[in-house]
Formats: sequence, structure tokens, C-alpha cells
Amino acid sequence: MQNCLVTGGAGFIGSHLCKSLLDDGYKIICLDNLITGNKQNIEGLLSNSNFEFIEADIVQPIRYSLDAIRYVFHLASPASPIDYQNLPEETLLVNSQGTVNILNLAKNTKAKVLIASTSEIYGDPEKHPQKETYWGNANSFGPRSCYDESKRFAEATTYVFLNKYGIDARIIRIFNTYGPNMQKDDGRVVSNFINWALHGETIKIDGDGSQTRSFCYVTDLVEGIKKAMFVESTKGEVFNLGNPEEYKISDLATKIVDLTNSKSQVIYSGTFRPDDPMQRCPDISKARDFLNWEPKVKLTDGLMRTIDFYRS
Ligand code: NAD
Ligand code: UDP
Repeated sequence: MQNCLVTGGAGFIGSHLCKSLLDDGYKIICLDNLITGNKQNIEGLLSNSNFEFIEADIVQPIRYSLDAIRYVFHLASPASPIDYQNLPEETLLVNSQGTVNILNLAKNTKAKVLIASTSEIYGDPEKHPQKETYWGNANSFGPRSCYDESKRFAEATTYVFLNKYGIDARIIRIFNTYGPNMQKDDGRVVSNFINWALHGETIKIDGDGSQTRSFCYVTDLVEGIKKAMFVESTKGEVFNLGNPEEYKISDLATKIVDLTNSKSQVIYSGTFRPDDPMQRCPDISKARDFLNWEPKVKLTDGLMRTIDFYRS
């Protein structure tokens, strides 16, 4: 079968994507500098002769032969707000120079390429739910801008390469995704709440907990990623991929406390994080119609699987 390159393949989403592509019979090169990923995520794949791991930084010039690559999934980038705020320059560079390197690779090899963007390009949205045609409300000069603006740069660069060089590219805007292989200390809301609940520690909610997110289980997302790459005629398209069921952060906390039978108390800081999006929910009608894709895993089931992973 054809060769796939997955950048960020040792990360949370990338490791699930690598496993799923291997199960489908593809040969994988997983490229990762492990800055926020973990080799443990791909431990079970390393013995597979169709899987190769290259520890490298995609911001640097590509020095290894990738001529046989047919499909490139560009997922490399810190994704947790705690991670990208601790690694702001690395985040800017992987989404700018790293994406340019990947698009040049696609141009030179004629490989199909998928660029992982994010719901963060919508900033703190004034339109709800968010459609792909919405331009967003993002702050270019603040704590989240290293991520939001570099992802917007990645999208703009993809647009230029599509139109100037005719490369076969598509963009996915991923909304909050969760599941096994999320680093326990990555600071994202699902990992924090589950860890605190399992240890009986206080669950700390920012603001008054009224801000919303929509949580997609990782296996659903991976199906969407594969469809965005492999379904016919996706060249030049942008797809929202996420779960359209929307929850207040306070309701997520209650749910996790219930599912873990925890005695944790829940406290509210009263202060929102700077530039925190208050409402986030994808409109996935385009992915439904074009890709025949929608999430299947209910939040309760996905959380139980994630809780089991963190327990073990
Ligand atoms: P993650 O941090 O678990 O994985 C990212 C991987 O990229 C890590 O393994 C990291 O080591 C690697 N990486 C970072 N910089 C690199 C570089 N310069 N060279 C090589 N590898 C590098 O994050 P994730 O949640 O798996 O996110 C994967 C992608 O999906 C990211 O592009 C992210 O922006 C996007 N995304 C994720 C979510 C989510 O909810 N998880 C939401 C929106 C967008
Ligand atoms: N959040 C929280 N407590 C935490 C972690 C996150 O209240 O321990 C809130 C955070 O302020 C935000 C939402 O949960 O409103 C989602 O945060 P996360 O860091 O998971 O990702 P984001 O969707 O902001 O990128």
C-alpha cells in the first residue's frame, strides 16, 4: 500500500491516526520531535515493519528521502493552551516554517496533503455554531495568538500553495478532542478534571463555568481525518471536524465527578482565562454532506474509556 507521512505522529491524535492507518494497511513514517508527544504513545507500533519513527523537527530542512510518500498528514504542533503558551516560539515556527516545509514537500513529490488547523482560528466567536465560512474573532496580540495566528498563517500558506502551485491540499479545523494518549499533565480540561477526580483533588473551574466546548472522541476524529484525505474531490476544501454536542465546562466537571464516583469538590476561580472563547461548537453540516461523516461516540462512553486509560 501507499506510504503516509504523519507529522506529530507520537502525539495524542497522531498516535491514533498512525494506528488506524496501519490497521488499514498503509505504510507509515511517523515524524516527531517529541516536544509535547511521547514515545509511549507509539510503543505498540514500533515493532510493525510497516511503521517507521523518525525523531526530527519539521521546522528544520527535510534531510531524509520522502520521495515515496503519497499522503502527508501534518499534525505537528503543540495543541494544549498550557503547552503552546510554554512553547510560544516553537508553536509559531512549527505552524509557519514547518507548514511551508510540508507544503514544499507536497509540491515536490505531488503527495496529497492534509493540514491540521483548529477551531481556535475562530477566536472568541461571535457567530454560533461556527461554520467554515465564518472569519472569526481572534486576538493577534495576546497569550493565545502564538497558536491562533500561526494556524491562520498555515491556512493562508496552504491557500497560496493551492492556487500558485496546484498542490493537492485540504484543511481540517479540529474542535476539542479527547481520549486515551492525552498526556496526563497536558493541562487540558478533560485531562485535568479526570486526574483531579480520580485523586479526590479539588476541581478548579476557570470563570463561572458557563463557557462551552464540544468534545469529540478521538476515534471519531480519526475517521473524519481519513475521510478528508481519502474521499474524492476534497482538494482545496476546509472542513470543521468535531462533535456538535455542546457542554458548559461546569456540566463537564459534574459529569466527570459522577462517572469516577469521586468525592472531589468543585471550585470556581471567578476569572476567565484571557481571550478564552466563551462559546464553541462546530457546525459540521459540510463534513456530514461532503464526507458522510459524523461523530458516533457519546460523551459518557468516551469519558469512561478515557477514565479507564488514566486509571491504568
Ligand atoms: P499533541 O501535543 O499531543 O501532539 C502534537 C505532536 O506534534 C507532538 O507529538 C509533538 O511532539 C509534535 N511536534 C510539535 N512540534 C513539532 C516539530 N517542530 N517537529 C516535529 N514534531 C513536532 O497535540 P494533539 O492534540 O495530538 O494535536 C495534534 C494536532 O491537532 C495539532 O496540529 C493541533 O493544533 C491540532 N488540534 C488538536 C486539537 C485537540 O483538541 N486535541 C484541537 C484543535 C487542533
Ligand atoms: N478549564 C478549566 N479548568 C482547567 C482547564 C481548563 O476551567 O483545569 C477551562 C478553560 O478555561 C477553557 C476550557 O476549560 O474555558 C477548555 O480549556 P482547554 O485548556 O481544555 O482548551 P481550549 O478549548 O481552551 O483550547
